[in-house]
Amino acid sequence: SAKQHGRNQFAFFQPQMTEEIREHLEIQQGIKEAIDKDYLYLDYQPLYSMESGQMIGAEALLRWRHPIKGLLSPARFIPIIEESDLIEDVTRWVANRAARDLKKILDLREHFSVAINISGAALHQLEMCEYICELKQHLALPDKTLSIEITETSMISHLDSCEAVLRRWKRAGIDIWIDDFGTGYSSLAYLNSLSIDGLKIDQSFVHNLIDGHSRPLIDAMIALADSLSIGTVAEGIETDRQHEELKAMGVEYGQGFGLARPMRIDALMQLLETEENVRP
Ligand code: C2E
Ligand code: MG
Ligand code: MG
Ligand code: MG
Repeated sequence: SAKQHGRNQFAFFQPQMTEEIREHLEIQQGIKEAIDKDYLYLDYQPLYSMESGQMIGAEALLRWRHPIKGLLSPARFIPIIEESDLIEDVTRWVANRAARDLKKILDLREHFSVAINISGAALHQLEMCEYICELKQHLALPDKTLSIEITETSMISHLDSCEAVLRRWKRAGIDIWIDDFGTGYSSLAYLNSLSIDGLKIDQSFVHNLIDGHSRPLIDAMIALADSLSIGTVAEGIETDRQHEELKAMGVEYGQGFGLARPMRIDALMQLLETEENVRP
């Protein structure tokens, strides 16, 4: 312990802890201002059909342009926001913006879906599901055009209510995808709930496909999805080689910097208009 190592050690740890607490406070206090002053925005990363090369949807990814800290990545601030009720405000903001952007896209393309990432706490909130459902109705968004991405981990905290919760989202016409699949610690039991629409194979498996040992694991995930008649997305495709292999292995959809980087809504609309979205 710190005590055993003497006073100096203890004195060394303390400023670090204070620094972390300060950062957490700054993020949590700053996010309200960020919502009010429009410091938040969404980037969209396209999703492609492996078979046709068509862009079939996009994932909304949150960004925070902080006046002092610069551009903040969600990987840095979302886990901190998730520790507080503020995640509800953030999720509502994301859902609102994404739903309105989706409405614009659907004027251009009849078949398109936009996915938003939903934190565990928000997923299990009755009011959140109702809020997004009303938003969907208000904007007259057809079923299956708005989808959510949730993690395996977000289900273990609420195992007993999980099935009912997933069914509620599903009944609202919202598709449910498991994000970062293969990296969590949950059982696979929830996959039997019949509410899951697909698995997003985590990018770590894709990155280790060619030189590493993940091929049998990806094969197993595809077989699992096939046997449940649900979809598959390979995340984090960076090279043509990965793209070709994954297509040959039978993955349904692909996403990654090698296909398209996350981009602002205007750029996404432009890409859709010019039909550059069709990849060989
Ligand atoms: P995620 O949902 O798994 O999103 C994919 C992340 O991988 C994104 O990072 C994306 O930019 C990145 N990525 C995509 N293709 C590639 C690739 O080929 N190579 C590499 N190295 N990375 C790639 P980003 O935007 O920084 O988001 C990080 C995470 O933050 C997301 O992971 C998601 O868990 C979370 N997040 C983002 N937006 C939201 C949000 O609105 N709400 C919640 N609750 N979480 C969010
Ligand atoms: Mg995601
Ligand atoms: Mg992911
Ligand atoms: Mg992730």
